[in-house]
Amino acid sequence: MKKHLLFLGAPGAGKGTQAELLSKASSYLHLSTGELLRKEIAMNTVLGREVKDIINRGELVNDELVLQIVRQNLDKDNKGWILDGYPRNLSQVNSLNEVLIEINQPLEVVFYLDIPEKVLIKRLLSRGRKDDTEDTIKKRVEIYKKTTEPLIQYFKDLSLLEYINADRDLKTISSDIKQKMA
Ligand code: ADP
Repeated sequence: MKKHLLFLGAPGAGKGTQAELLSKASSYLHLSTGELLRKEIAMNTVLGREVKDIINRGELVNDELVLQIVRQNLDKDNKGWILDGYPRNLSQVNSLNEVLIEINQPLEVVFYLDIPEKVLIKRLLSRGRKDDTEDTIKKRVEIYKKTTEPLIQYFKDLSLLEYINADRDLKTISSDIKQKMA
């Protein structure tokens, strides 16, 4: 069973939902940079205040800062982990590679949750998170296409990519993922 996983996909593709389900079923650590950043904002920490406006504009938080969060949270007990929302650009891929070499826990599989753009915009608008306004969504999708989407090819070339049709019901998707983890 693979235990070092990454979820890739557009905002609204369902990465967080699937990662959470899988984490509960497997006891792997669910590491969502978006979730961790939102916690910092909710707790009104120095970091939270620094990232609040950036996130609400739909832009990416600076690489160094996100890397710090990932480093602090990556489990070193080797129980397994699920990365969700990180890495989002090639520079973050390189930093992640360094960290994974340091902790000697190489990435084993990348699940690419694929979904038509129309469906994801509808999902995001109905979710109603603070950064789910129409303008912010547009910005996030635009950044996703430009900076995150190229990672699909990158992981494909490393033979790490597993394609998941994310335009199906939750249970069908999660059993598909579980099957591909074996
Ligand atoms: P979604 O997948 O719907 O975009 P996330 O919860 O993953 O939502 O992220 C919300 C926001 O947090 C992003 O729009 C971005 O501002 C910030 N963020 C999350 N992860 C990263 C990252 N790896 N690098 C930079 N910014 C990030």
